Amino acid sequence: MNANPINITVLGATGSIGCSTLDVIKRHPDKFRVFALSGFQNISLLAEQIVEFQPAVAVVPNNQARDALKALIPNSKTEISVGEQGLIEVASASEVDAVMAAIVGFAGLSSSLAAAKAGKKLLLANKESLVVAGALLMDAVRDNDAQLLPIDSEHNAIFQCMPPSGGDAGVESILLTASGGPFRSFSLEQLAGVTPEQAVAHPNWSMGQKISVDSASLMNKGLELIEACWLFNVPPSKVEVVVHPQSVIHSMVRYVDGSVISQMGAPDMRTPIAYGLAYPERISSGSPALAFDQMLNLTFDQPDRTRFPCLRLAEEAMDVGGIQPAVLNAANEISVAAFLDRHIGFMEIAQINEQVFNEIKTEAVESLDQLMSVDQRARAAALKLVNKVNK
Ligand code: NAD
Ligand code: MG
Repeated sequence: MNANPINITVLGATGSIGCSTLDVIKRHPDKFRVFALSGFQNISLLAEQIVEFQPAVAVVPNNQARDALKALIPNSKTEISVGEQGLIEVASASEVDAVMAAIVGFAGLSSSLAAAKAGKKLLLANKESLVVAGALLMDAVRDNDAQLLPIDSEHNAIFQCMPPSGGDAGVESILLTASGGPFRSFSLEQLAGVTPEQAVAHPNWSMGQKISVDSASLMNKGLELIEACWLFNVPPSKVEVVVHPQSVIHSMVRYVDGSVISQMGAPDMRTPIAYGLAYPERISSGSPALAFDQMLNLTFDQPDRTRFPCLRLAEEAMDVGGIQPAVLNAANEISVAAFLDRHIGFMEIAQINEQVFNEIKTEAVESLDQLMSVDQRARAAALKLVNKVNK
């Protein structure tokens, strides 16, 4: 029995990562206590989670959602707070030891940053935080003695394969694996006709809609390349993207002596989540054991940047630096939403992203306010292009 359970805030509790996090927490009631949960659209699921985990606070987007939640759980003692300020408060509250940042997209940035500034253990699933504001977030972690643990499976794997002494002594490069997504072997003609349903049906992982489309376009791998550069302090040239369709190896680190160290596991996010929750210890996660007797082939291939231009765009964005990754991320959030709403085709995601990327001049990153306005500008530019296609 652990004398002092770890108090956790789960941001984005109703999403794919949020639900998996609560599933792991539930297996270890002696180790973890839920301090706060946040939800956005699925208020009835949030109500169920509140009944089960009895958090001190729940955060919803607005007063209407608060009323809807209250009506579902009229006798609950959980305090309900609202909006971005509510998210920031539960990410930085003095009672909290660890924050699972599992909101999707730019919307997760301010709360991730708040957790880092408050010196928390930050379990970062929200990769967009690092893509948009890598410099600000890494500075906040360092300056406030926060602990940043990557939950994205590839980065969690890389973290596990890095030298135990810390630092990067002897590291030659990072091998970032990619499943290649559901359209790995599609021609350009076939890609032009794919539907949102096909795009969200990932062959190996069950995930939220936005990251599923990003996986299909390889934008997810592009965002992850940027994420890896910030987390492990390497330039893009030191990150090799390797297509590995079976998603058994979650990523690798190549050393100067010729060794390559990999982390393997079933494609189940509960493994990296459990690793982050219990670090530096290990706890059971509910992930199925990797069945070596059934594992036939592990294959590897090169990514194709012609059919999947989003990967190239992300590499360019990181090379240029400054606000360019934030511009690309904002354009992509708009174009992916437009694709899911059937306003544009699949290949237009990359076209719109590239046009916005070229349209907005680069500048150095100075502040969160600046990034907020860059995000707005890039969204507006992308929306204009979506409307043009959609006429
Ligand atoms: P999801 O869509 O399933 O869940 C997103 C969560 O964020 C939900 O709780 C939703 O209510 C909340 N949310 C959405 N918009 C919001 C807003 N504007 N303000 C506040 N809350 C909002 O997404 P997911 O698949 O769980 O992914 C979450 C994050 O984790 C993403 O950044 C994704 O890239 C990353 N990630 C996910 C996986 C995975 O397997 N699902 C793997 C690696 C990384
Ligand atoms: Mg990943």
